[in-house]
Amino acid sequence: MSLYLRAWLMTGWVIFVFISSPRWFAAFNEYFGSVGQFAAVAFWLGHGVAMAYLFKCPVCGQSIYVSTAGRWTNRRLWPYKVCSKCGRDHTI
Ligand SMILES: [Zn+2]
Repeated sequence: MSLYLRAWLMTGWVIFVFISSPRWFAAFNEYFGSVGQFAAVAFWLGHGVAMAYLFKCPVCGQSIYVSTAGRWTNRRLWPYKVCSKCGRDHTI
């Protein structure tokens, strides 16, 4: 399975987690009590950290969700097919 496809699966999972967030926010509150909101926020931020650090270009190490082409650094929820830093095709 290519890095690009795995990154799309992660994107789909993150969208599912976002849509279902009212359910699991309530579940975190129920299971963890008063610190449930903080645990839920940490759970949500963990997904962002996973997207930034687990899906990196194997050649140069740049996140597949980041593009440094042009003047600005662009980040988006869906992955880039080609690495903007080294030009590697992530679909292979
Ligand atoms: Zn690269």
